[in-house]
Amino acid sequence: MTRQAPLSGPAPHTPIQYLKGVGPARAARLARLEVKTAEDLLWLAPRRYEDRSRFASIREAQPGAAVTIQGRVLASALRRLPKGRTLLEATVGDSTGTLRCLWFNQPYLARQIRDGEDVILFGEVEGRARLQMVHPELERVNQDASQDDEAHLHVGRIVPIYPLTEGIGQRWLRRIVKTALDRVAAAVPEPLPEELRRRLKLAEVGWALPQLHFPDSWDTLEQARSRLAFDELFLMQLRLALRRARFAQRTKPQRYQLDGPLARAFRRQLPFALTASQEQVLQDILDDVSRTTPMLRLLQGDVGCGKTVVAALAIAVAIQSGFQAALMAPTELLAAQHARVLRDAFEPLGVRVALLAGGTESGERADVLRRIAAGTADLIIGTHALLEPSVAFAKLALVVIDEQHKFGVTQRAALVRKAAAPDLLVMTATPIPRTLALSLYGDLTCSTIIELPAGRQPVRTLWFPEAKRQEAYRLIRAALQEGRQGYIVYPLVDAEEGKELKAATQMARHLQAEVFPDKAIELIHGQMPTTAQERVMRNFASGTTRLLVSTVVIEVGLDVPNATVMLIEHAERFGLSQLHQLRGRIGRGAHPATCTVLSDASDELSRQRLASFVGTTDGFQLAERDLMLRGPGELLGRDQHGWWRFRVADLARDARLLEDARREAFALVARDPALSGPSLARLRAKLGITRR
Ligand code: ADP
Ligand code: MG
Repeated sequence: MTRQAPLSGPAPHTPIQYLKGVGPARAARLARLEVKTAEDLLWLAPRRYEDRSRFASIREAQPGAAVTIQGRVLASALRRLPKGRTLLEATVGDSTGTLRCLWFNQPYLARQIRDGEDVILFGEVEGRARLQMVHPELERVNQDASQDDEAHLHVGRIVPIYPLTEGIGQRWLRRIVKTALDRVAAAVPEPLPEELRRRLKLAEVGWALPQLHFPDSWDTLEQARSRLAFDELFLMQLRLALRRARFAQRTKPQRYQLDGPLARAFRRQLPFALTASQEQVLQDILDDVSRTTPMLRLLQGDVGCGKTVVAALAIAVAIQSGFQAALMAPTELLAAQHARVLRDAFEPLGVRVALLAGGTESGERADVLRRIAAGTADLIIGTHALLEPSVAFAKLALVVIDEQHKFGVTQRAALVRKAAAPDLLVMTATPIPRTLALSLYGDLTCSTIIELPAGRQPVRTLWFPEAKRQEAYRLIRAALQEGRQGYIVYPLVDAEEGKELKAATQMARHLQAEVFPDKAIELIHGQMPTTAQERVMRNFASGTTRLLVSTVVIEVGLDVPNATVMLIEHAERFGLSQLHQLRGRIGRGAHPATCTVLSDASDELSRQRLASFVGTTDGFQLAERDLMLRGPGELLGRDQHGWWRFRVADLARDARLLEDARREAFALVARDPALSGPSLARLRAKLGITRR
């Protein structure tokens, strides 16, 4: 690939519509691929590559293998099937044989297939006597492609296959990328300092960008890809390192009395001793708060390991030192539970606890706000309602965020801004793989509770098909007879017209009338008024209600140790981490617990997911598995990812690169917190840092 230095003409930041061959209409389509400038196009990573230096011949294609074949369309026909379905069938031949291609319900493809034209097909070959491909990817070999062929854009090399959007075809995109490479790649400045690049043996950006698209070999592709992935990971880690440095530079006004009457009394009334692991993380927290810079700590630990009591001890330390503490939870139910449990523990010791949730009535709300502002509430528990501007604290020193993965980074920052330099403890039960932790929580130091309280037994997990529904009910009945309680979880609140899905509302009625007529059942879901939800939850926590029929509102944090059975219906509808969270609602006490998932799912991904779920109760293992199956974006939900969407890097496979990027970024910020060095100008520009 030749690189010519552009004398005049487009620069990397030139809007894409001005690149030769694009224009406004196609620029609008490219915007859907997040391509806005010529340089964006250079970073549009192919989703895969095909080695077209040699095509497979039809005769040598092995059933079961994915191959790329070039051949001629010998015949094609579009057939209408019953119920409005269509079947497009084409016979493609090369000098060694013929192959049948089938496309169901993609009638528009008929326009792309003309008898006598050459096509390139990619897909899995099936059959023995008669070879066929179902839904192969199709690329037309244009008659007028002589120019492209000369440049070897589409054949005779490793060829990029891009993500597409409507109105943008592979061949056109390849040609435009080539144009952009020829015209602007050489002008993309090298962002990495030379010393770093050499030490880590990273290729130059001006070499890596063309190789990402039109690699000379699989080796050079990997070198190019890891170089560009490093850039993205390094920038992300620099942002985190800078955020941490900014936070840690501050000197906090609060000083704590670590050993005092409140923490001691709180401990004395606990019905259990802390585990060694809980003691260890508490010590980490106490070490942090006794520093002059604010704490920035993540407390991780699997469902049920006992994070709340550790946070409560930190809260006791803050309050006995004369300050306020705030505890934010993602759902009204969880905030209400924390308020109930912590009031019981703290109020007898003279601590004034206030609850501020979205459902708090206006009269009471005004009173709570007044107490927060006057400093006559010591511990303030709430949902994101705590973030509202009307909430002003008198002397907030400690901020605790529970189930942080349900909040965004911006919400975390908003609560921290409620005080000058508060100590921050964020907790999460969703075990996330290390690569994600380093990305999402990379500015925090991490403590992990690595053991469950003594006497806990892993939750027995069973996967039943619909045909074994009665047996699933029998398991629940047996537990209820022994005095335990249980949950039955549905993906929907209400049954939907024409859908087969079972829903909580209808099933609650059915279960009460037909299946468990002698047991007290209640329904709970997120569309109920919060006061009603809280009433139901209180009845369940006190044991009045024996069986709770619910949706995912119970997913996080709820703690009723007497509940030991759970049935999850349509389990294929839930993500792996979500299933793990749901299962975490049981097995929180001394009694053995059983979780049954009911699912007839037949698709491979769902079956893999459910098999993983019944195979282990280890949340970290499940999280790694979920990352592999679903990818990082899906895993964390929309709130979390926006700020680190990568074009080239892939958290599921670039773990080692990420560790390198992190080490280098934090070391760099430690040496040069303002990134003021002369070789860092490009990095400053990318991070939007303007020098004073
Ligand atoms: P999570 O870490 O999921 O937030 P919780 O803090 O809700 O878990 O604790 C789960 C249950 O374990 C609670 O009922 C809590 O009282 C209990 N628990 C916490 N620590 C211990 C311990 N050291 N020994 C026995 N039970 C404990
Ligand atoms: Mg919890």
